[in-house]
Amino acid sequence: MNNVPNKHFFTKQLTAWHATENNRNLPWKNEPEPYKIWLSEVILQQTRALQGLPYYLRFVDAFPTVKDLAAAKDEDAFRLWQGLGYYNRCKNMLATARYITNELKGKFPTTYDTLLQLKGIGPYTASAIASFAFGLPHAVVDGNVYRVLSRYFGIDTPFDTTEGKNIFSTLAHELLETKDSAAYNQAIMDLGATVCTPGKPLCDQCPLQKKCFAFDRGLTDLLPVRSKKLKIRKRYFHYLLLLWNNTLWIHKRNGNDIWENLYEPLLIEDTEPIDLEKLIQCSFFKDNDIKYSSITYSGSYCQRLTHQQIETRFFIVTLSKKPKIHLHDGLWVKTSELGKTAFPKTLVSFLENNLYF
Ligand code: SF4
Repeated sequence: MNNVPNKHFFTKQLTAWHATENNRNLPWKNEPEPYKIWLSEVILQQTRALQGLPYYLRFVDAFPTVKDLAAAKDEDAFRLWQGLGYYNRCKNMLATARYITNELKGKFPTTYDTLLQLKGIGPYTASAIASFAFGLPHAVVDGNVYRVLSRYFGIDTPFDTTEGKNIFSTLAHELLETKDSAAYNQAIMDLGATVCTPGKPLCDQCPLQKKCFAFDRGLTDLLPVRSKKLKIRKRYFHYLLLLWNNTLWIHKRNGNDIWENLYEPLLIEDTEPIDLEKLIQCSFFKDNDIKYSSITYSGSYCQRLTHQQIETRFFIVTLSKKPKIHLHDGLWVKTSELGKTAFPKTLVSFLENNLYF
């Protein structure tokens, strides 16, 4: 049989395709600066390239160097991050920028192992920076790479197990074109993103089709294999927008949860949706001596994150009296100045459409 998957064929075809046909243009491609490569890789984790693109451009514009990012106010960086989710990425990025600036005199580490020691940088990002910025022979292994390798070589070991990770990582390094690891890594990432896509791969345009295991046997929709079904946690957020004299009560989210360090109005979370009638009866109103002239349900918004589904309901509460009891650690902010505060994207859209900034 001459259509058996072949490592030499794989690398040769892939790099040739990259040199002649791959026309995926993104501003961070061929970027030599480790800072910008790092920025793009952090933004693109859990985010599609087109969605991440405006964020990358905004960050580069606001913070052109790692020193600029290190000097940024947390608030400003979080506001630019609004909408990307997984805010820990932004928090780690700020910590790492400050570490590089203050402890390493603004110089990015230049080896895979030293990159790996930085906060928020795992094997994938370390490989990307080592290879794209410094030409070191490290293969990137992410969702795109799992997909291309498992389909082409017919690997049905689940990629989210220790065994699977070892198999894919070893194979990725064996396939790496060490003379130009950057081009090879870019090629496999782009092929996974544009041709060997999750839904319907474009096998007719694929340079690997001739010897592809999954194409040959009609198995593209069964590969790659994931071991566990994602468990989705359902959460119901009820935001009470407490308004007093054109000010809104907000506080900073903390704890190890989504949207950490961003601001939000008063939140009542439950595992079930609560309607207005029941909400009014909840102990919060009594305990905090909340007196209002009107309270209205103002719509809801659903969003799906990797491991959770959140239904957010908004209630505008116009207070007739400023609550006497101290409301946690929050503050009253003029509604006209809410645009200066970093909120989760869900809230930004609602506030923009329903309040005044
Ligand atoms: S032939 Fe199809 S399944 Fe195989 S690597 Fe190419 S796009 Fe993916």
